[in-house]
Amino acid sequence: MTGIQFRLLNESKGQAVQSPRAQCDKKAYQFRLKHTLELQPNLTLFQAQVTGLIVERGKIVGCRTNLDIKFQGMTVIITTGTFLRGLMHIGENRNEGGRLGDFSAKTLSGSLIKYGVELLRLKTGTPPRLLGRTIDFDKMQEQPGDSNPTHFAFHDTRISSDLFHVEQFKEQRLGWKPGCEQVSCWLTYTTSITADLVRNNLQKSAMYSGNIEGVGPRYCPSIEDKIVRFPDKERHLLFLEPEGRSTDEFYVNGLSTSLPFDVQLDLIHSVPGLESAAILRPAYAVEYDFAPPTQLYPSLESKKVEGLFFAGQINGTSGYEEAAAQGLVAGVNAVNKARGVNPLVIHRYEGYIGVLIDDLVTKGTREPYRMFTSRAEHRLLFNHGSAELRLASHAEKHKLLCENRLKLISGKARLVDHWVGVFENTRVPGGLWGDLMRSDAAPSELPAGFSKASQAVRDEVIYRVKYRGYLAREQHQVKKLSQAEALQLPVTLDYSSIKGLKRESAVKLAEIKPATLGQANRISGVSPADIGILMVFVESSRAQHRKDSSD
Ligand SMILES: Cc1cc2nc3c(=O)[nH]c(=O)nc-3n(C[C@H](O)[C@H](O)[C@H](O)COP(=O)(O)OP(=O)(O)OC[C@H]3O[C@@H](n4cnc5c(N)ncnc54)[C@H](O)[C@@H]3O)c2cc1C
Repeated sequence: MTGIQFRLLNESKGQAVQSPRAQCDKKAYQFRLKHTLELQPNLTLFQAQVTGLIVERGKIVGCRTNLDIKFQGMTVIITTGTFLRGLMHIGENRNEGGRLGDFSAKTLSGSLIKYGVELLRLKTGTPPRLLGRTIDFDKMQEQPGDSNPTHFAFHDTRISSDLFHVEQFKEQRLGWKPGCEQVSCWLTYTTSITADLVRNNLQKSAMYSGNIEGVGPRYCPSIEDKIVRFPDKERHLLFLEPEGRSTDEFYVNGLSTSLPFDVQLDLIHSVPGLESAAILRPAYAVEYDFAPPTQLYPSLESKKVEGLFFAGQINGTSGYEEAAAQGLVAGVNAVNKARGVNPLVIHRYEGYIGVLIDDLVTKGTREPYRMFTSRAEHRLLFNHGSAELRLASHAEKHKLLCENRLKLISGKARLVDHWVGVFENTRVPGGLWGDLMRSDAAPSELPAGFSKASQAVRDEVIYRVKYRGYLAREQHQVKKLSQAEALQLPVTLDYSSIKGLKRESAVKLAEIKPATLGQANRISGVSPADIGILMVFVESSRAQHRKDSSD
């Protein structure tokens, strides 16, 4: 509802790695989401700075705030982003804060450490914001949104009243019809002058002068990193992104830096179209505390403090989707914990959320982690169109969707199966319809009635038919893997008592406390031989347990 531009990324590549991107009006998004929360029944809201945790006998019981008002809770979720001891750098200039103009949460770190949570430092950066009327867009290439936007939401399985969750009260609020009145982004490039400016001022950059101890994101490098790491590259792409419909502020995507303000001005002026641009807010780097995520169970609950959950950038990730995915899982699991229900765990062969959380809690991260499609070994199964079909069973089990929507999703799944069956079982001149789809000479006609199915169903059917062989191979692998995932390892397992297990492996396993044999197998440093020993141990313990109970 607050989207200002929609684009399907990787449109020229296969469907498995295409992903919808939505750019939102930042202020409209903030107000709309806040209002959504205000309208949510049974949710109590309060704004204050959390200064410390209240823990009794290893269990969370609440938190303290700077207003000396305490809150009690059976569970608490920490989502501090870049605010924990946040320190911003612009050249030599330093300011405490999680974001420009915001506070730095200074005492919460001490409270976490007191209860045994290890904290380390990371850093990230943002680019400068420019005033639109000082930009010469004629020298740039326009990048409009898609005329037929791909939305994150699946419209065909939502009734119009819950198409956007926030519209359930039939209230007219700030927002637009999704996809209408889109605004353009603009493309330009750095020049050789930009590169020289960076090289000549490198010692003034907070990141290169040794002023910053935190590790930065390898995959979203600052302009300093790009110029140093790719000295032969003539130019680097920059995107000028509007911040909203009712502001003339532009975000220079691709030019994050911690160089001093005067150098930033020169850098900006060295770029075609930005010769006279005015900076509204300078770029800066921010250093912050994060809690290495190997201290968490796959439910995102802390191993150190029972009932305490962590989500978002505090777990070492960077990015909106990464934070949102963890927020969802931690939210569901904090409720499940309070209700005494088993946690929601999405396996790494079920979706990107599974890959993200499994990577974090099993391998950890020493640099800001971003979710790339390449991190998922079964990404062929993760096309955007199948997301709700893949995850509906979790939604049903954890009561995340209304019955009506679940019915529509299972109806859609049946339709997809039906049409895949038609393609794979109907003989036409030249072979089966599916064979023709997979051959170079795609059929000129499709089965009668198929064109009447919804676009979402047709896309999913064609994807499954076209890539049938590859998908079947993946499914076969997943089946084998899911056996290892089904073998659960008790949290209390004493790895040091398992005969034959290498000491280093026992130490690693005791630290990570894997939930399943599959997760144990992914811990770096634990060899296949050790996994074999562990499997024999668990199975023989189980057999012994069964024997004891039958005796
Ligand atoms: C300018 C900018 C542009 C970005 N652009 C992109 C982008 O284009 N794409 C992308 O994927 N990511 C982007 N990011 C990164 C993305 O915003 C973060 O990774 C993501 O928002 C992290 O989510 P989070 O919920 O962990 O933390 P945040 O979204 O940072 O939220 C943390 C919240 O916790 C509150 N808080 C912190 N400490 C306390 C406390 N002690 N008590 C009470 N409240 C507290 C803060 O006030 C804040 O509201 C950008 C970040 C910035 C700063």
